[in-house]
Amino acid sequence: MIEVKGFSFTYPTGSRPALCDIGFEVGPRELCAVVGGSGAGKSTLAGVVSGTVPHLTGGTAQGAVQVNGRDLADTPLSGLVGEVGLVMQNPFNQISGARFSVREEIAFGLENLGVPRDEMVARIDPVLHDLGLAGVADRSPYELSGGQQQLLAIGSILVMRPTVMVLDEPTSQLDAAGNALVFEALGTLKEKGVTVLLIEHRMERLARAADRVLVLDRGSIVANGTPEEVLADE
Ligand code: ADP
Ligand code: ADP
Repeated sequence: MIEVKGFSFTYPTGSRPALCDIGFEVGPRELCAVVGGSGAGKSTLAGVVSGTVPHLTGGTAQGAVQVNGRDLADTPLSGLVGEVGLVMQNPFNQISGARFSVREEIAFGLENLGVPRDEMVARIDPVLHDLGLAGVADRSPYELSGGQQQLLAIGSILVMRPTVMVLDEPTSQLDAAGNALVFEALGTLKEKGVTVLLIEHRMERLARAADRVLVLDRGSIVANGTPEEVLADE
């Protein structure tokens, strides 16, 4: 689960806090969406929960962020493998290279961890199947549709078996068919019992799949409720 308490963060070059005294919890197996307009602090929050902000960005942080009871300020990024995974907005920031097949791409993180070969297969095949990628497992990632590429990015994190996943605007570059694929993948993550923080631009329909929606505005949480309560007038 995710617990954020009285958290504020300012980038090294920031003139005002990107996040300002925010607090929320996302319980085990919960799907929580974060919506807000440009500059609201959504990407910053994705980085905070996945441990890259402020570890990789620098800047000034106050308050506490815990994932599965571990304080992120005291946890090196390497200590978060298998706990929290970030799926980036553009899958090609994450996909490592055209020389790999889809299957090899999904194997990449496990290889880096030194996971034994039979365990790799035992982990990869179900993920390919669950995400509907089994039929394209031997293709190049570059031959996939945009939606399938996003599923691949999700799969290469899912195979690491994190208990918490952060998805940063996973459908922002997708057409309706790609949106539908990612929507189904959210259902798969829920079935697997993954706690999900789903970052979405305001108005995007994907947030309606969430158990709960947080609305960010200029670094502050201005609403926290069910999709019906929070998205009612949009
Ligand atoms: P969103 O994802 O909702 O568009 P961001 O988290 O990207 O919002 O940005 C929140 C605020 O932090 C904005 O004012 C933005 O200009 C600022 N910001 C984002 N990234 C950086 C950075 N690397 N350095 C300085 N300021 C940043
Ligand atoms: P767009 O403006 O629609 O993003 P691009 O040509 O940049 O157009 O990307 C089209 C699709 O191909 C996107 O899904 C993108 O993620 C993916 N893509 C990005 N870089 C590459 C690449 N080097 N080779 C093949 N596909 C790529």
